[in-house]
Amino acid sequence: MEVCSYWHFGICSLEKNHIKILEDPKKKAAFIGIHCAHCDTPLCMASCPAEAIKKDEKTGMVTIDNLKCIGCRTCIVACPVSNPWYDEVRKTVYKCDLCGGDPQCVKFCPTAAIQYIPREKARELVKLLGVK
Ligand code: SF4
Ligand code: SF4
Repeated sequence: MEVCSYWHFGICSLEKNHIKILEDPKKKAAFIGIHCAHCDTPLCMASCPAEAIKKDEKTGMVTIDNLKCIGCRTCIVACPVSNPWYDEVRKTVYKCDLCGGDPQCVKFCPTAAIQYIPREKARELVKLLGVK
């Protein structure tokens, strides 16, 4: 979370970032990462009245154009994990942009708990680990 905020905003913050690591309410001493899935059919994009959100056809990356964003926050409600968040100072919404294709959270995670892999491989891994 701090690496994310440092990369994007030049500060170490547990608030101003695009990924949240929370305690798993179902298991003791376990944590879950809440992050953008760069969905195949992004509800954030479908809900945006300003057409400020785009999905790159080649990379699959879903990004916000902050010059187009009008700060209505509809995407926050539409996203299943509420990944977009509103910046009160800049009056716009931000979300995970995969750090341009080189996610810093992945790079700096000391236990490789976060991986950046193709969706199919991720699905296999989830099946293998029996994650629900
Ligand atoms: S912000 Fe939410 S809806 Fe949009 S691509 Fe990411 S996970 Fe999907
Ligand atoms: S807050 Fe910005 S990106 Fe989100 S739905 Fe509104 S205009 Fe679109």
